[in-house]
Amino acid sequence: MGYRIVITGFELWPLKKKTDQPNEFDFDVAIIGSGASGLGTILQLPDDTNIAVLSKGSLCEGSTENAQGGIAAVLGDDDSVESHIEDTLNAGVGLCDEKAVRFIVEGGQAEIEHLTDLGVDFTTKKNGTLHLTREGGHSHRRVVHSADHTGKAVENTLANRVKAWENVSVFEQFTAIDLIREASDTGRCVGFYALDQQNGRVVTFRVRVTVIATGGASKVYLYTSNPDSNSGDGIAMAWRAGCRVANMEFTQFHPTCLYHPRAKSFLVSEALRGEGAKLKLPDGSSFTQAFDERGDLAPRDIVARAIDHEMKRLGEDCVYLDISHKPADYIVSHFPMIYARCLQFGFDMTKEPLPVVPAAHYTCGGIMTDLNGRTDINGLYAVGEAAYTGLHGANRMASNSLLECLVISTAAGNDIKEQLQKINLSLPLKPWDESWVKDSDEEIVVTHNWDELRRFMWDYVGIVRSTKRLERAQHRIEMLKSEIADYYGNFRVSNDLLELRNLLVVAELIVRSAMSRKESRGIHHTLDYPETDNSKKPSPTILEPV
Ligand SMILES: Cc1cc2nc3c(=O)[nH]c(=O)nc-3n(C[C@H](O)[C@H](O)[C@H](O)COP(=O)(O)OP(=O)(O)OC[C@H]3O[C@@H](n4cnc5c(N)ncnc54)[C@H](O)[C@@H]3O)c2cc1C
Repeated sequence: MGYRIVITGFELWPLKKKTDQPNEFDFDVAIIGSGASGLGTILQLPDDTNIAVLSKGSLCEGSTENAQGGIAAVLGDDDSVESHIEDTLNAGVGLCDEKAVRFIVEGGQAEIEHLTDLGVDFTTKKNGTLHLTREGGHSHRRVVHSADHTGKAVENTLANRVKAWENVSVFEQFTAIDLIREASDTGRCVGFYALDQQNGRVVTFRVRVTVIATGGASKVYLYTSNPDSNSGDGIAMAWRAGCRVANMEFTQFHPTCLYHPRAKSFLVSEALRGEGAKLKLPDGSSFTQAFDERGDLAPRDIVARAIDHEMKRLGEDCVYLDISHKPADYIVSHFPMIYARCLQFGFDMTKEPLPVVPAAHYTCGGIMTDLNGRTDINGLYAVGEAAYTGLHGANRMASNSLLECLVISTAAGNDIKEQLQKINLSLPLKPWDESWVKDSDEEIVVTHNWDELRRFMWDYVGIVRSTKRLERAQHRIEMLKSEIADYYGNFRVSNDLLELRNLLVVAELIVRSAMSRKESRGIHHTLDYPETDNSKKPSPTILEPV
């Protein structure tokens, strides 16, 4: 795809027509994305800052709201920061940035205290202390949770705080399209264009600081645990604007999503296995021990690959997750939301095993940032799942992602607070130009390519890869690039078209990164290089825009 980098003063790709009603919003800070990382950033900003927060759906819609398990933090008497760091480094298989791991792990306790002060209702023990659960890869109980709906509890609390702030303007159903950079030596980010989905108009945001908090890109796969909004928009926008991205080959597949045509990959939390649930084959036998001595509590990549292997070997559509040996009241009180959702689909987990399959779950790579969320572009920050800080390496350990969202958004908010004094609004920006585009006459092009892209990413770039499969995917990406660029250049933008355009960029970044890693490591597994290359110090896969 030809990347349209829009720069004030001139453009590298012709802009579309001026609208009759130019519509520009001016803000100090605009946060694109309203999950834990976006809202967390806002809460650090001074209350005289004029802030916009955008969401593609409603304010609380996103991965954060769906998080079940919890937030990893060192709070147990027998636990230590060093142990959490060691577990994270082990899960990351030599690719974590140790400095980032230490910074984020050390910040955990303060973030939990902050959330508790804000009113998040974490589950406690009878003695009033926080109940900690254990998840795959963690050597201690250290996952703070709010029953099995931690994300909802966090998201709602943060959203209520933000909504109460008069200086925050909420833009729901707005899709950011592309960043705008100044035509100066620094090429500072001075704003962006966004589609108002309600009326189809594209508006301009002129801002002093932009924060990308758009979440991950798992929607690039046919089966995903993620909500529809996670189409990698922020990663694609930052890449088009000139940011480096790293480690895009590392997509984590969650081993256990409910297998049911209507469940849309409803995730069954790892916390179930932490509390004793067993993975079983259709004949009732356990199998994960044959792949790793940690069995059902091995890191996610190992468990997902074990399931993928057994499903392919046996020609089965799913395996089973069984917690029915635990008392029913224990199951219902620990997992009320999962229990209720499964019941809706006809499965009573207190009495029977649940059918489960793996699904794309988490994007370990993303826009390269420092530990204050700063990207390669002045005035542009990235936080949360859209960003790559170096925490996760070749695999993410369960419940480390919300932790990263919180710690980095706090740091980013504080950094922005300092930087704002030095940054002025740019000169007025060029409005979006639609003079030579028309309404789409064949929406089928978009829907067809959506399906095709996500299907071949699942088939060729999924849990187990090979050079041939990656080449096949690359070939299809090349064909789609010209088709979608042509469509984008001729028709008015819609949310689906924008997402498709971004998914294609993300797909290409994933395939390019996967092709360049000539080994299997963590969640990147390829049949052509099945071993981990320990002959040299491993390094992240960094892609630089041309
Ligand atoms: C089912 C599920 C369970 C999980 N469980 C856990 C867990 O227990 N513990 C844990 O640590 N992690 C968990 N994760 C991962 C974790 O929830 C995410 O990594 C984290 O919430 C990401 O937060 P975020 O703020 O980066 O993005 P999100 O919460 O995904 O928010 C993204 C926001 O960006 C907006 N957006 C996207 N594109 C655009 C655009 N172009 N324009 C405007 N707005 C846009 C969206 O509308 C949304 O508001 C889970 C994830 C899922 C899907």
